[in-house]
Amino acid sequence: MTDEYSEIREQVQKLCAQYPGEYWRKLDVERAYPTEFVQALTEAGYLSVLIPEEWGGSGLGITAASVIMEEIQKSGCNGGACHAQMYTMGTVLRHGSHEQKQKYLPGIAAGELRMQAFGVTEPTSGTDTLSLRTTATKNAQGDYVINGQKIWTSRVEHSDLMLLLARTQSKEEVEKRTDGLSVFIVDMREALGNGLEIKPIRTMINHATTEVFFDELVIPAESLVGEEGKGFRYILDGMNAERILIAAECIGDARWFIKKATDYANDRYVFGREIGKNQGIQFPIAEAHMQTEAANLMVEHAARVFENGGRAGAEANMAKYLASEASWKAADMCMQTHGGFAFAEEYDVERKFRETRLYRIAPISNNLVLSFVAEHVLGLPKSY
Ligand SMILES: Cc1cc2nc3c(=O)[nH]c(=O)nc-3n(C[C@H](O)[C@H](O)[C@H](O)COP(=O)(O)OP(=O)(O)OC[C@H]3O[C@@H](n4cnc5c(N)ncnc54)[C@H](O)[C@@H]3O)c2cc1C
Repeated sequence: MTDEYSEIREQVQKLCAQYPGEYWRKLDVERAYPTEFVQALTEAGYLSVLIPEEWGGSGLGITAASVIMEEIQKSGCNGGACHAQMYTMGTVLRHGSHEQKQKYLPGIAAGELRMQAFGVTEPTSGTDTLSLRTTATKNAQGDYVINGQKIWTSRVEHSDLMLLLARTQSKEEVEKRTDGLSVFIVDMREALGNGLEIKPIRTMINHATTEVFFDELVIPAESLVGEEGKGFRYILDGMNAERILIAAECIGDARWFIKKATDYANDRYVFGREIGKNQGIQFPIAEAHMQTEAANLMVEHAARVFENGGRAGAEANMAKYLASEASWKAADMCMQTHGGFAFAEEYDVERKFRETRLYRIAPISNNLVLSFVAEHVLGLPKSY
């Protein structure tokens, strides 16, 4: 991911330099959305790198997208405000119809349309996606009527389109557990106030996340992506991309923490010498660095497997696990290195510490990654 992408790295760094810590701190206090930052990324074409050139994007692969997300995090910014456009793209590209691509992709690439929301998680099913209860039922006109509730649907207030996973057949009716779920593109400009209600959830980070309620929301039949009942498989395909991109964000975070801690350890004098002279300070930084570089190799490997069209489930999951654990260790190390000053908002350490913690839980909890590896990679018995 290094030489080939050095120009993208440099350009993203330049853009991010215009959005320093003060910018993020102010938004964090106000729990406000980084509109200008997202707009700048969109105008520069970074959020549409995965869209093929024929639809107005730059037609690059997951490695380029990972490099962009990593650089955003490494510069102290927060890509959480806009990363979903990249995650959701694979589902639309791989399974969307020609008409859907024509309708949405050029607008997304041009920054006129935002597809930043992804509605999967529900309050009662949580990680157990196959138990989700939101229904999409065909009415007499052939349109779909949506009823149910999603939770943690992030950026929905800052998006025009939402990728929604809903049940089109009851659990009892399906042959395979993975059947009966379908993916829809919901145009929220039409849906809001007509059966779609959004309630923001205030959280420990500035993530614009919400609860979404569907009450007899009618969406056109053409909103369906691919075949009815096959949605879980489509979403699974996209999840590998999501995991690789999140892993790259974690690598960026970890590198930010390591640089921040190294600089501080070189500058801070206590007992008449730099604190970095103490091995008690040096070793955790060196350890965080090694763990991050090792995790990064898995991220690069996963991106390569994915890009070459291979089955990347194992690699994508392992990359996400290793990178989120590495960024969390680096975050804790950076807090410890800064001592009391870690708690002062002006250093940004406490903000990034809170932000990077998310990725051990979302988009998939690391426990579930361990279960996946145990069962699908090692052949251990299914645990749930
Ligand atoms: C800030 C934020 C933003 C999010 N954004 C989105 C979004 O945009 N769209 C979306 O659809 N979702 C989103 N999510 C949801 C996120 O993907 C889920 O929170 C995550 O998948 C975990 O699900 P849960 O919270 O329901 O945990 P639960 O499923 O209730 O699990 C709770 C704990 O139990 C553990 N656990 C459960 N089952 C097992 C098992 N069998 N073995 C071992 N451990 C187990 C889990 O690992 C977890 O640690 C977001 C979440 C947050 C916090």
